[in-house]
Amino acid sequence: MTDELPRQADRSWWLEEALALPEFAGPAAPPLASDTTADVIILGGGYTGMWTAWFLKEAEPDLDVVLLEQDICGGGPSGRNGGFLNGMYEDLGTLVERFGKEGRRTVEIAARSIEEIGAWCEAHGVDAWYGLHGDIAISTAPAFDPIVRQLVEEAEANGVGHLYRSLSAEEVRKRFDSPVARIGATMSHTAGVQPARLARGLRRVLIEKGVRIFEDTPVTRFGERTATAETPGGVVRAGRAVLGLNAWANAIGALRRSIMVRGTYIVVTAPAPERLEQMHWTGGEGVYDLRTSLHYLRTTNDGRIVFGGAGHRVAPKRVTARYRYDEGSVRDLVRDFRRWFPAFEGVPLESAWGGPIDVSGLHLPFFGTLKGGVAHYGVGFTGNGVGPCHLGGKILAGLALGKQDEFTTLPIARGPLKRFPPEPLFTPGQQVVVRAVIRRDDRMDEGRRVDPITDAIAGLPRRLGYGLGP
Ligand SMILES: Cc1cc2nc3c(=O)[nH]c(=O)nc-3n(C[C@H](O)[C@H](O)[C@H](O)COP(=O)(O)OP(=O)(O)OC[C@H]3O[C@@H](n4cnc5c(N)ncnc54)[C@H](O)[C@@H]3O)c2cc1C
Repeated sequence: MTDELPRQADRSWWLEEALALPEFAGPAAPPLASDTTADVIILGGGYTGMWTAWFLKEAEPDLDVVLLEQDICGGGPSGRNGGFLNGMYEDLGTLVERFGKEGRRTVEIAARSIEEIGAWCEAHGVDAWYGLHGDIAISTAPAFDPIVRQLVEEAEANGVGHLYRSLSAEEVRKRFDSPVARIGATMSHTAGVQPARLARGLRRVLIEKGVRIFEDTPVTRFGERTATAETPGGVVRAGRAVLGLNAWANAIGALRRSIMVRGTYIVVTAPAPERLEQMHWTGGEGVYDLRTSLHYLRTTNDGRIVFGGAGHRVAPKRVTARYRYDEGSVRDLVRDFRRWFPAFEGVPLESAWGGPIDVSGLHLPFFGTLKGGVAHYGVGFTGNGVGPCHLGGKILAGLALGKQDEFTTLPIARGPLKRFPPEPLFTPGQQVVVRAVIRRDDRMDEGRRVDPITDAIAGLPRRLGYGLGP
């Protein structure tokens, strides 16, 4: 069956769902309309900025915190993601290799966010569909079978084997009966959320706590040495600033070569809970495959499938509208969706959207302070920010308050960890590598041989010391 392309959604389905409810839509946060001052100014109303505001207010309830968001809070990736709430287990190998015990400590501290976010939602009456359901990694072709086994073996070698369990093909089918699914592995310590409800719930609680949030307020000029933000309606002067700008942070010179902007896209079906039952996918688990250009998918409370995948193009370096919707990437997703879900034959795909991600060289978020010592940033979540942005909020609140604590002393809080090559080499090089990665994934999925040149190009970043690619 060939599908029409789904509706190009300006807001994600998650955000549309949340904004239809008064507790997530309000209260209003009109644009900044005059000059003001603050103790701390936060740029960006995603999870990073909002968790930072939360931890600042937790530490010092009287602190005057102003948050500026160019769109609405949660209008960016925080309200449009796949809802996988992970720790940093997949980075354990890299972290231990580079930082030894401190690397392990980072993963232990990041893992706390998985329960803490659930407890926070409970305590503040935010129904973000939080569920500690775990995830299933599946192999979709014989060439991916060894990668599933490797996942479990590496977890055992790193001392977290108890969180993973191999699944036979029969066991996978009992939980996720798709024709593409072969063997798999469960990861028990991860949760799922309705991402926009989490973002909008955070916003409501922050406003109740006295954080002054201004939406529809783009920062057009930022003085990093003075913590001054210029916006169309007024200037904010503060002693300290925190930047939670995700991929938009590559407009900042000091960060430009430390993050690479990529797109990832999602399609959502109409509700069809009976079809999910037919496929035995009723446990709320997130599912992902082992392609480098990953597919990630989960179900919603009303029986939809949210199906995401890495974009296939290298878009412009600056964040543009392309990241909200890329027709070519969505077309591929629709094709893949139909291959994965014959059980959803005839169920329409209702809408599609996307967003930018801030890929860092080691696949690790990093936090630091710009020259001048008053502006702190957190970026590089590399498509895994729902959990780690919560830890990021603790680190950034600590940095803004000048604290030396268990969060600000983590090795990911010492600035960029690895830079990308300079232009004019970088963009064309990136384009060649991305194409090779997708070609390699497609061939593996189709059961075809991967030619050595494609394999070599796809593997280049890792051979050059980056934590990216096969
Ligand atoms: C489609 C998609 C699926 C994803 N799936 C997952 C997932 O399942 N699990 C997971 O862990 N992660 C996922 N991610 C990544 C995750 O969403 C992000 O890592 C996380 O939301 C980053 O939060 P943030 O606050 O740093 O950035 P954002 O949520 O992007 O917030 C940054 C904000 O800054 C604002 N801004 C930018 N420039 C300015 C300016 N000049 N002035 C004022 N405001 C400005 C933006 O409008 C934006 O709202 C996904 C991302 C995408 C795009």
